[in-house]
Amino acid sequence: MTFADLGLSPKVLSAVTDAGYTQPTPIQAGAIPHALLGKDILGIAQTGTGKTASFVLPMLTRLEKGRARARMPRTLILEPTRELAAQVEENFIRYGKNHKLNIALLIGGVSFDEQDKKLERGADVLIATPGRLLDHRERGKLLLNGVEILVIDEADRMLDMGFIPDIERICEMIPFTRQTLFFSATMPPEITKLTEKFLHAPVRVEVSKAASAATNIIQRLVKSGSKPWDKRETLRNLMKAEDAELKNAIIFCNRKVEVSELFRSLLKYDFDAGALHGDMDQRARMQMLANFRDGKLRYLVASDVAARGLDIPDVSHVFNYDVPIHAEDYVHRIGRTGRAGRSGKSFTIATKTDTKYIDAIERLIGNKIEWHDGDLSTVVASEGEDDAPRRGKGAPRRAGRKDDDRKDRGERKRGGEHRAGRSEDVAPVVVAQQHEQLDVAETAVAENGERRARKDAIRSDNTERKSSDRNEQRAPERGDTRPQRDNSRPARQRHQEDNDSTVGFGDDMPAFMRIVAKV
Ligand code: AMP
Repeated sequence: MTFADLGLSPKVLSAVTDAGYTQPTPIQAGAIPHALLGKDILGIAQTGTGKTASFVLPMLTRLEKGRARARMPRTLILEPTRELAAQVEENFIRYGKNHKLNIALLIGGVSFDEQDKKLERGADVLIATPGRLLDHRERGKLLLNGVEILVIDEADRMLDMGFIPDIERICEMIPFTRQTLFFSATMPPEITKLTEKFLHAPVRVEVSKAASAATNIIQRLVKSGSKPWDKRETLRNLMKAEDAELKNAIIFCNRKVEVSELFRSLLKYDFDAGALHGDMDQRARMQMLANFRDGKLRYLVASDVAARGLDIPDVSHVFNYDVPIHAEDYVHRIGRTGRAGRSGKSFTIATKTDTKYIDAIERLIGNKIEWHDGDLSTVVASEGEDDAPRRGKGAPRRAGRKDDDRKDRGERKRGGEHRAGRSEDVAPVVVAQQHEQLDVAETAVAENGERRARKDAIRSDNTERKSSDRNEQRAPERGDTRPQRDNSRPARQRHQEDNDSTVGFGDDMPAFMRIVAKV
């Protein structure tokens, strides 16, 4: 099947050809013809499957007739996070290059005024996070009774983030006669209920993982002492060892505090790194992401939430600085590499306290992960003898070791309380100390303007957010704090019992999973 068989308009087909796509993906082949006929769609698919184009392309074709009126958008796309919303906007710009459409993006963290102006002009396409959309509505700046097509994307993430009541409210504000395109990676009972309430005779298109997990990603576990400076040294050694093959890498940490600390440490060691986490302001996040995507940054230190669902093609390496506490996050993380059939490598730094999390990951993926250079037994033995081990027994001393030691000793001194462990309790102390660390790091790289800009961006992670964005007030991004993550567990677990085939992987289609379409 080709795109020409799907019924898309010539303008859309031309943009698709320019994007270099030759064949529709299964979700596109399954959804587009029905969407063009005005039918409701229930798409069960994750990011990475071509899901975005499966609704953007038919919407563009349908929008060719008619035009927008002030404050009355013609279509509405709801996304759970600002990054996903911005990504959908990029898709509209790319595929809509032959159309003259007004697109408005309503997300938190940016001023209302600009957004108001776009609404006033009349939006053909309105892309929004639920909280900001409702804020605009309550300010009387937005009328939803002209919406002809409603897209609810990543519905299961909306559920995790507590947005379902908002979604219900929004659905009730939009005319009953609308077309609804509804996407979710998984179908927990709450989501099924929502679809039963708001979809009319939907065409169900499901893209699920195959039973076997063939992999084009080389996965390795790497032993390390558990102190932060041990882990940082392990990471640096790995990065240096992989240098020849490494095009770019995402380095995942479990917590925002670790993202900040590791980012600063890497800058000190002259790695070309940026950072991405949920507390950075929106502009800084988007800029950081764009720099990474464009190859201006080689390393991106990120939290799970900041990186979820983002379309960053062609990442050669993933480093897990921390073993993820939730096994499915491992699948999301390593799924950032090896996309679109390319090969990739992932290294997970493991300490002796991580064994139960590793067991859970191996159970989930149904495979043992190989150790890169011997397992943890040597590290466990040496930690018993030495309060601050630097390497596994018998590991060779590296050249440049003294320099590394000196820099890390500095960090250790400043790191103070944080040495005690990974407990959330220590976070406030660490945050307070980061200002001091930042100053030191800033002096070290004062000549480099670009780096300084990056540090300015990360500085915002220590600043209380004052945004009126309801998304953030009500539901800080999933995964940024443990209590919130825990709240999301029951829904996910229930779902895992209900539906073996998708195992609650949330928003990403891991690249090593085959796509099977059931229409
Ligand atoms: P999505 O699932 O929408 O996040 O898309 C994942 C990636 O697949 C994006 O980088 C798209 O540009 C790309 N993509 C979408 N449709 C196709 C297609 N038919 N052929 C090749 N790549 C595609």
